[in-house]
Amino acid sequence: MFTIDAHLDLSMNAMEWNRDLRNTVFDIREREKGLSDKPDRAKGTVAFPELRKGNVGLVVATQIARYVAPNNPLPGWASPEQAWAQTQGQVAWYQAMEACGEMVQINDLASLEKHLALWSDTTIPNEQKAIGYILSLEGADSIVTVDHVAKAYEYGLRAIGPAHYGPGRYAQGTDATGGLGPQGRNLLKEMERLNIILDATHLCDDSFWEALDHFHGNIWASHNLCRSLVNHNRQFSDEQIKELINRGAVIGGALDAWMMVPNWVRGVSTPENMNCNLEVMLDHLDHICQIAGNANHIGIGSDLDGAFGKEQSPYDLETIADLQKIPDMLLKRGYSQEDIEKVMHGNWLRFLRNAWK
Ligand SMILES: [Zn+2]
Repeated sequence: MFTIDAHLDLSMNAMEWNRDLRNTVFDIREREKGLSDKPDRAKGTVAFPELRKGNVGLVVATQIARYVAPNNPLPGWASPEQAWAQTQGQVAWYQAMEACGEMVQINDLASLEKHLALWSDTTIPNEQKAIGYILSLEGADSIVTVDHVAKAYEYGLRAIGPAHYGPGRYAQGTDATGGLGPQGRNLLKEMERLNIILDATHLCDDSFWEALDHFHGNIWASHNLCRSLVNHNRQFSDEQIKELINRGAVIGGALDAWMMVPNWVRGVSTPENMNCNLEVMLDHLDHICQIAGNANHIGIGSDLDGAFGKEQSPYDLETIADLQKIPDMLLKRGYSQEDIEKVMHGNWLRFLRNAWK
């Protein structure tokens, strides 16, 4: 079934992990054997061949670069200008992948419909189809000034999550506290003017509520799970989920194990001993459906290879192609065929067609 994944850090993998995503996941793992600079070496799950194998024909793909003040222990750049330059390298990689026919940027209704027609043509093998990507920015620190938002729109940026982990220049993120401030509110105003989607993922509670109060455009949450199942500020409370549903949002289910099962200890827990499989993510999505009273607000935003690999992913997922196991799992849970199609792609498409009409 045609599948949309609303959150993949593809350019980060290419530019920081040095992965040529045109190779298979297995070839990339082979090349990384013996490397220990990152905990997920030789454990990746995402590459173009596996996306095609899994019918994942459209993704929301990120730019990402954090600014860190001298006292901030998180990894990042020492100035917003360096962070901007990092994101420009990431854009250059996406453009290089377009130039060789591997990817195609989707940035308006016409390009979306054309791309969907291509992927629904079963006479053409997936190997000959470019992977569509909608460009998103995870954490807005690299937006040097609000004027940079229009520059980014020009090269295709269509969604922004103002925050990531920790304190941000425009909003406060996971594990931080506090609101947007005047700069954050200016950013939202400019996003609204340009019809850029607000990604509510990673906003801390204070910034989340302030952002929703000040932003009147389209809102989604690309990769998020539920606080009532795994209690952490990175997850949405039921009140936040209710508000997102009221605003017409779609929430993408993430496949990062620590968000899926409670009491995960990074580097110690394993998917097997924590019983973390794909069904667990569906438990979270199911919870959102119970709040909504329908299946209109959930999708997939896997975040696979978002600085973690197989060691922190569901044990029944070898590569991203295994997203194709989800339709059968939903069927067994009693979801209708129509609802299954909504989860795999329909809800994101409804959202995009409405946002870009
Ligand atoms: Zn994230």
